[in-house]
Amino acid sequence: MKGNNAEEKNKEENETKKKPIITKAKGMKDILSEEYILKDTFIKKARVIAKFYGFKPIQTPHIEKEELFTAALGEATDIVEKQMYHLKVRGKDKLVLRPEGTAPIVRSYVENGMHTQPQPVMLSYNGSFFRHEKPQKGRRREFQQLGFEILGTNDTINDALIIKTMSTILEEAAGLKTSIYLNSMGCEECRSKYKKELISYYTQNKKTKDLCKDCERRRKINPLRLLDCKEEKCIQTRQEAPQIINFLCDGCTKNFKELLEILDASDISYYLDHFLVRGLDYYSQTVFEFFVEEKNKEDEKEKTESPKKVLALGGGGRYNPLAEILTGRDIPAIGGALGVDRIISLMTKRKKSTSTPKVFFIQLGSEAKRKSLQTLELLRKSKIPTRHSLTKNSLKSQLKIASKLKVPYALIFGQKEALEDNIIARNMETESQEIIPTSKLIDYLKKKL
Ligand code: AMP
Repeated sequence: MKGNNAEEKNKEENETKKKPIITKAKGMKDILSEEYILKDTFIKKARVIAKFYGFKPIQTPHIEKEELFTAALGEATDIVEKQMYHLKVRGKDKLVLRPEGTAPIVRSYVENGMHTQPQPVMLSYNGSFFRHEKPQKGRRREFQQLGFEILGTNDTINDALIIKTMSTILEEAAGLKTSIYLNSMGCEECRSKYKKELISYYTQNKKTKDLCKDCERRRKINPLRLLDCKEEKCIQTRQEAPQIINFLCDGCTKNFKELLEILDASDISYYLDHFLVRGLDYYSQTVFEFFVEEKNKEDEKEKTESPKKVLALGGGGRYNPLAEILTGRDIPAIGGALGVDRIISLMTKRKKSTSTPKVFFIQLGSEAKRKSLQTLELLRKSKIPTRHSLTKNSLKSQLKIASKLKVPYALIFGQKEALEDNIIARNMETESQEIIPTSKLIDYLKKKL
């Protein structure tokens, strides 16, 4: 008794000594083994695809000079205004954690003399970026991007090549179905005419009173930002705004048409989104974004309507003015980046849903047992996640396992069914049963699951 009391006292003392653990900073995430392995495999597969198309890997530092981004992205951007991580360091340099990948690539391309090599130069990178945003679903303060840039060419085939590379990676390395949204932001000349029209739309129609605070302020600095706002009232206000497509000069119209023709010829489908502008100053002409496709049976039937934009998995565009802004050199270029964290979290969800069993196969009697491997093969070939317990012989014990596994359907294959080539499908929730001919089983399950 005495010993027990001492032990308990010790335990209590230990409890009181415990300090609250130091947790990770807001918006950050530990990537644990399972997710890390999935990410690693995805990146490796993506690299093979990127290499095939001609991209060479590059790595730039996580820390850059602040002026690189203020010059490149524009003062009136969310990133520069409120999202950059400024470092407190010794010395005079104003340093930040990189919030995006394109400006550092252009810096590195010129700083390392890549503009003197045969053009174009095709680069791909992968790593962490940092933005002090409101953490929410799909948004972190440290996030990973897999980016692609083609520098030193104005040929539209490269716009298509970037889109093709990113869509192949999403489809083959991540197994995700996505929709591509496209627009042309024109050149400086088209944009200056368009901006005037946009300002007049907002002022003449007294739309400004319906704008959020940020938009109201930005309307005066860069009206294009009004098209990029995610606030519901700003989305409503822009519904009838003029569209940039009607202000494109002959050259920009020709480029955009050419891109659409290449995509059509390559069987890459896309939706046009005339308000897509991507909130940074350096974009010109082609801009695009990838969205995960919402699995909606109605959408499948009516493919003409664009699916609801759920979560952006990547985006990019042509940034011909950027090298001029940063280095005074005329270097046309195009690029794009994929959001690795969002891709991995969708892959994890998908992996879970494909590995949880949907069906439990029950066999009863010697005839059914003899034919059970044949029926299981049907399910395996149709990729229907199935569990079974072939060594068990009673209905009760097999049903018990099925209900423990919480499968939506149990398939009961008894003596009678084995002789008549049928199978009983039991809805585990309602306990209703239907006799299905074995030849129609897969169609039946595909409809029900
Ligand atoms: P952006 O160039 O800013 O459009 O970023 C390209 C892609 O990176 C987006 O489509 C997202 O998938 C991903 N991304 C951007 N910001 C974040 C963030 N804060 N957290 C997670 N993923 C992000």
